Amino acid sequence: MRILIVEDEEKIARLLELELTYEGYEAVKVHDGLDGFTMFQKEKWDLILLDVMLPGLSGIEILRRIRSTGSNIPVILLTAKDSVEDKVAGLDLGANDYITKPFQIEELLARIRAALRLSHQQGDSDTDSNWLQFSDVKLCEDTREVFRGKDFIELTPREFDLLAFLLKNARHVLNREQLLNGVWGYDYLGDTNVVDVYIRYLRNKIDKPYSQSLIHTVRGVGYVLKDEQ
Ligand code: CA
Repeated sequence: MRILIVEDEEKIARLLELELTYEGYEAVKVHDGLDGFTMFQKEKWDLILLDVMLPGLSGIEILRRIRSTGSNIPVILLTAKDSVEDKVAGLDLGANDYITKPFQIEELLARIRAALRLSHQQGDSDTDSNWLQFSDVKLCEDTREVFRGKDFIELTPREFDLLAFLLKNARHVLNREQLLNGVWGYDYLGDTNVVDVYIRYLRNKIDKPYSQSLIHTVRGVGYVLKDEQ
């Protein structure tokens, strides 16, 4: 079990490293937010202990970036005593748990065990499946499952491929040609209107029932997946 510790207070970081190593985990500590995110991307971890107040990048920003990669890795936030906002923001962004400093090491260890147990039950290992995620839409390329928030969305194979292509190109405006080539393939000889038809099918399932639309029309150009108006 590999645990990444992102904590700028050297004393706390060293204590965590010692205790976790003693418990049989492989623990690595970094002291800066940017290094923390780089280490997350570079190596394979089972859990991250993430301080909120960090130089470089804040813990909340690191968490946002981690989740926007589609990773479900368990993250436990280390927060200061009075920072209710950080806790709320952290949990909203998908932190699994938080612990307030100063903490009892036994309590932290118990929470780490609980988070790891839950993550294994859910089979959330990042290597298990290929998730694409944008905003609250999640798509698994291996199992071909799609979720918006907690809702399971049933899509036809073509709708699925179209959504996957949009997710891979999120925030980039795509014209009909690009969508046709990406989803239907270069040898498709049918009507280009098929793109508009399938975008409509997809909107009915992914956007219509929800308050925030993600698929936007760019007049005269094409479509873009984005989460702002
Ligand atoms: Ca700190």
